[in-house]
Amino acid sequence: MPVETCYAIDVNNLLQQGALRPGVCRTINWSSVDEWGGTEQRASIGVVATPRGITLHYTTTDYDDSRREHDYTVPVVWVRCNFGGKRPYFICPGVVNDVSCGRRVAKLYTPPTGSYFLCRHCHNLTYYGCNESGDPHFTAVRRTKRAARKLGLDNPEGVYGMERPKGMHTRTFRRLRQDVLDAMDNEPKAYVMVMHKFVSSLK
Ligand SMILES: [Zn+2]
Repeated sequence: MPVETCYAIDVNNLLQQGALRPGVCRTINWSSVDEWGGTEQRASIGVVATPRGITLHYTTTDYDDSRREHDYTVPVVWVRCNFGGKRPYFICPGVVNDVSCGRRVAKLYTPPTGSYFLCRHCHNLTYYGCNESGDPHFTAVRRTKRAARKLGLDNPEGVYGMERPKGMHTRTFRRLRQDVLDAMDNEPKAYVMVMHKFVSSLK
């Protein structure tokens, strides 16, 4: 899955579309052009503007095909510009390793395999980053994936409880399995969630 295909929400786009006015509901769609020149819808989310920000509604599918509903509010603040007027910013709702982000940003992202719309900084701290080149965390993750692929696994977590593949020597299997486990140990232990109660804490 190419990592550069993050889905982004831009607060200024929403502003231009009038989608920050409380009560306005919008659907944001992301599509790609397929090999036949047709467009294919890849993702969509519902956005409802409230007096304090926007509420995002969407569903993601996990590795095991279970579906998860998401429904959380991203606060929007208005900041006075030097030249008069006000500009909107999202407050990033990310909570990474129990630390809430709260950065003021114009764009929020999620990678195709991600669950939440967060700022770039938050994604760089997590497994599924949006801006990964040269990132030591990502290097560790890439090492894990490479080790896992030698065992024919797309998802390194599959190593838990995996049976030895037919035709593979026990010793080879143990070594490859250990490689994956060691590589996973070296990955960042980022735990990501969004702050559902963020808005009320800003009251
Ligand atoms: Zn953030």
